[in-house]
Amino acid sequence: MICTNCFASEYTTATTELTVTICGEDHILTNLACERCPACGDIIFTHAQSLEIDKKRISLEFGIKPLLTPEQLKTLRRVLHMTLDDICDLLHIGRNTYGRWERGEVAITPSMNLLVHNLIEKVPDARINLLPGDRAAAIQKANTSLLEQYISFGEYIREVIFITKLLPDVVCDSLKIEPADLTKIENNDFAPETISPEVTARIVQFFSLNLDNLKRLLNATLTVFNMKSSANMVHARSTSYDAKGAAIQASTVNKVLEKLAQKKGTTSDRKLVSDEYLEKVKAALGDVNKVGGAA
Ligand SMILES: [Zn+2]
Repeated sequence: MICTNCFASEYTTATTELTVTICGEDHILTNLACERCPACGDIIFTHAQSLEIDKKRISLEFGIKPLLTPEQLKTLRRVLHMTLDDICDLLHIGRNTYGRWERGEVAITPSMNLLVHNLIEKVPDARINLLPGDRAAAIQKANTSLLEQYISFGEYIREVIFITKLLPDVVCDSLKIEPADLTKIENNDFAPETISPEVTARIVQFFSLNLDNLKRLLNATLTVFNMKSSANMVHARSTSYDAKGAAIQASTVNKVLEKLAQKKGTTSDRKLVSDEYLEKVKAALGDVNKVGGAA
């Protein structure tokens, strides 16, 4: 058959590669039969060749998509705001099936695993919370605007979680911290150097930061934190004693102080985060990367 691109030559059978995206990650299918024009390099696939590619892609998907863990299945249901009955109806499975997967009583079957993976890929919030590749892309997008501003470590983390719609539980699991500690970090209630270098390193990795970003964020936090210790009377005057009220108040106080810190930010007499602490984070970061704690 004559090349429909250059009309200078006949297509001949050759092999090629294709990139397919599975679970947000690119994979290369190699050694695929195709028809190539020797003159211009144009490539077409016959019907039979296309079918072969589909078959290879599907078997790759079966092989690559790891069985969803009970935690991931729970996260998915929370992202979708569904009851166990709702999600069983959605997937056309028996009433108790999803609950058994979530409790780890039985593993999800490979065919249902593929179906649920496809569901995850269709829901942006689910992709961000469950697929590391999509999560990293969403965080990097948030970073481009956030890291240009004067922003503290705590407010930065709060903003990224808000913008990306990450579930706080998912963040806590990845950082290996308790939800209460995440809240305290968001409110800059920890002096920067009292957060363990290991936790800070996990934060740096999770949020795709570099050590320069980190230094600026921590210095802003230090300013806010120091202002806060001299502004404790704001807390003392609080009239709401329930935990939720206190949490809202703490985040409001932090936002107010952050605005003040922003104005003060340029003065040179500020205390800065020590190089010693940053070195410890750097060392811890080496360990985190070795373990490959991205998941
Ligand atoms: Zn051609």
